[in-house]
Amino acid sequence: MINIEEFWEDAKDELSKSIQAISYEVWIEKLEPVCLVDNAIVLSTISANAKRTIDTRYKDTIKEVVSALNSSITDVIITTPDKKDDFLNKQTVFIEDQGFVTNEPPKDNGKKKSPFLEKYTFENFVEGKSNAYALAACKTIAEHPGGSFNPLFIYSGVGLGKTHLLHAIGNYLFKNKKQMNVLYVSAETLVTELINVIRNKSNDENNRFREKYRSCDVLMVDDVQFLIGKEATQEAFFHIFNDLYQDNKQIILTSDRAPKDLTTLSDRLRTRFGCGLTVDIQVPDMETRVAILKTKAAQSKFMLSDEVAEFIAEKSPSNIREMEGLLNKIIFFSSLTNNVITTKELAYEALSEFIEDKGETIDASDIIDAVCKYFKISTADIISKKKTKSIVEPRMVAIYLITELLPTPLVQIGEMFGGRDHTTIIHARDKISDEIKTNPRIKITVADIRNMILNR
Ligand code: ADP
Ligand code: MG
Repeated sequence: MINIEEFWEDAKDELSKSIQAISYEVWIEKLEPVCLVDNAIVLSTISANAKRTIDTRYKDTIKEVVSALNSSITDVIITTPDKKDDFLNKQTVFIEDQGFVTNEPPKDNGKKKSPFLEKYTFENFVEGKSNAYALAACKTIAEHPGGSFNPLFIYSGVGLGKTHLLHAIGNYLFKNKKQMNVLYVSAETLVTELINVIRNKSNDENNRFREKYRSCDVLMVDDVQFLIGKEATQEAFFHIFNDLYQDNKQIILTSDRAPKDLTTLSDRLRTRFGCGLTVDIQVPDMETRVAILKTKAAQSKFMLSDEVAEFIAEKSPSNIREMEGLLNKIIFFSSLTNNVITTKELAYEALSEFIEDKGETIDASDIIDAVCKYFKISTADIISKKKTKSIVEPRMVAIYLITELLPTPLVQIGEMFGGRDHTTIIHARDKISDEIKTNPRIKITVADIRNMILNR
């Protein structure tokens, strides 16, 4: 089997001869070998910007060097840390006399390697008011799977730690209850698998699928909102769910909304999902966000000053993944300039491109579209004079978000919404900003839509 770390060390030796010293140090030295996928070696760099530079300036050279070292490796893929897992899921293992074998789990000196992401552990998860219940529930389940919290249903906006918690349970069980059969799957993968089973019409395939799911002691399905509209998968999953549930096997589900809000999911599945314990994760407060940043920085052995931590935490209040992205940019800029960024001003400079980029590309119609999509209403309705509650609330949320995210004058916003007076706009804005403080549902709704807009 090829050892990718050693292989990459050899390749780097060669590259250091053909690429100028400074460029080598900045762009190549810090590349991290991830895995092999088909005939390509996947290398990770710290940001999308770095990826662009390496793709245009160095990829061909890297390709030449790696293929000269091993003729089976004919391509190079540069990726960023957030996409690494996608490649790890598809990775290919190279076995000397058999060539490439896809999806063979990597063997670790005969020791079975945890299939869960190493960095997502309970130890690395920062507890705060916003996630305390979810964390406690997950820890209890990791200790006593199949106990009283079954199924556990966790919901939150994007980037708030659901997937992290599932992997933390997986890692804990892998370490402490080795005999348990623990399966993590995203609902998307489940759908794809089932489509393949149906398409192949082979009994063997079908049996393998059933056996895989029904032999679990713990089944975790991430992002079950993807089952919406997938009738065949819902049907199959309903049976898997019942079998596991009746055998007291633990089921854990996550979603971007509460079970009762999975409105187009079949009733019987929705009821099942909500029949155990349901917990949500809220947007973490400033203090928790700073603590998370410090943990992440420590993992990357980066000295993060309080000032910069607070600056980043303020910039992305509702999405931890986005916050990590900003931190990675700071780390990257620090390593580029060999100068650790410790002040707010330098941080602003390092991130200015990113922060301005977003502001420029969003306009009011993006916000209105996102709100309509979220509430499943039409643009015509939202700007109409209709006064039904199902329209009025989305309309006020859209107005609030426009005033929050864009510098558009109030009179102009009034015009966009069918010629309303600017006092009506002020009323809508203030109403939602008050509600955010007192009504958790509105708070989550606004945070989720803001995420949808900013993470397009
Ligand atoms: P979700 O699945 O809810 O969209 P993820 O679990 O993918 O979110 O989390 C996004 C990123 O934020 C991950 O890198 C995760 O480690 C990090 N994260 C979220 N919450 C916490 C926390 N409380 N402590 C540490 N890291 C966190
Ligand atoms: Mg997730």
